[in-house]
Amino acid sequence: MTEQNVVTQTDAKPVPTLPDAQTVTSVKHWTDRLFSFRVTRPASLRFRSGEFVMIGLMGDPHPETGKQKPLLRAYSIASPSWDEELEFYSIKVQDGPLTSKLQHIQPGDQIILRPKPVGTLVHDALLPGKRLWLFATGTGFAPFASLLREPETYEKFDQIIMTHTTRDVAELDYGRTLVESLADDPLIGEMIGDKLVYYPTTTREQSPKMGRITNLLQDGTVFKDLGIDGISADTDRGMVCGSLEFNKDIKDVLEGFGLEEGANSDPKHYVVEKAFVG
Ligand SMILES: Cc1cc2nc3c(=O)[nH]c(=O)nc-3n(C[C@H](O)[C@H](O)[C@H](O)COP(=O)(O)OP(=O)(O)OC[C@H]3O[C@@H](n4cnc5c(N)ncnc54)[C@H](O)[C@@H]3O)c2cc1C
Repeated sequence: MTEQNVVTQTDAKPVPTLPDAQTVTSVKHWTDRLFSFRVTRPASLRFRSGEFVMIGLMGDPHPETGKQKPLLRAYSIASPSWDEELEFYSIKVQDGPLTSKLQHIQPGDQIILRPKPVGTLVHDALLPGKRLWLFATGTGFAPFASLLREPETYEKFDQIIMTHTTRDVAELDYGRTLVESLADDPLIGEMIGDKLVYYPTTTREQSPKMGRITNLLQDGTVFKDLGIDGISADTDRGMVCGSLEFNKDIKDVLEGFGLEEGANSDPKHYVVEKAFVG
């Protein structure tokens, strides 16, 4: 064996067996329907906090040809743009083609990650403002887990109001744990100061604040609770991530306050992304 061979073998990195493979570094199960996980980040991947990518696993072999195809789904990147790894926050759909398998990943396993980030929940799609509202239901918290850890969020706004609505209290845990960790975050802890307001609500299980955020905005409860006058296009900006129905309802509410929907190419007062299709 030549010396060169020895060096090559000793330093050899594991050869990815999947296209665009990344390695799972940690997994945390929050409830029987929700988990989060972290994976290695491709060296070349640049993204804006709030964007999403396609991730997945290889599908089952075709019964006749034995060929396997990648099974990919859209996922918001839950970690901020500066993080060395990538974090995701996922539903477990019991008969879901991807998540029925993805929920079983372990550290050391590989997933497929297509390094082409896109999305509208980005600072570039909003006009400057004073107050930023982040409205999430369910796993719609994921892009905001990224934006809440992004310094730009606190540089651009005087106040950030993070609302998260779930059916049950345990479904708030991932978001609550993240929000609580921010004060001690070495990078943004001091920037946050008292700028961040967390406003969790549940619709089914009893909790200190019950109800849909749309209703609580419309009847003025949120404004009374937070001691603010209301939402205005002069000062307030919004980002929305939830089910199709939620997104539609909150768009109506925001438009009722005079806010207009923006896009990457046309920044305005609020932006919307689906948390899932269907
Ligand atoms: C832009 C975008 C970003 C997304 N980001 C995330 C994310 O960060 N985390 C995440 O878990 N999912 C996210 N999704 C949904 C994701 O793409 C998949 O639908 C999900 O992983 C389930 O995949 P599946 O193959 O198991 O089931 P699918 O066949 O994709 O879905 C089966 C059914 O499960 C329900 N469902 C799917 N996803 C969810 C969900 N997140 N919450 C509640 N019900 C759901 C729907 O009713 C859907 O019809 C996102 C979707 C879009 C369009």
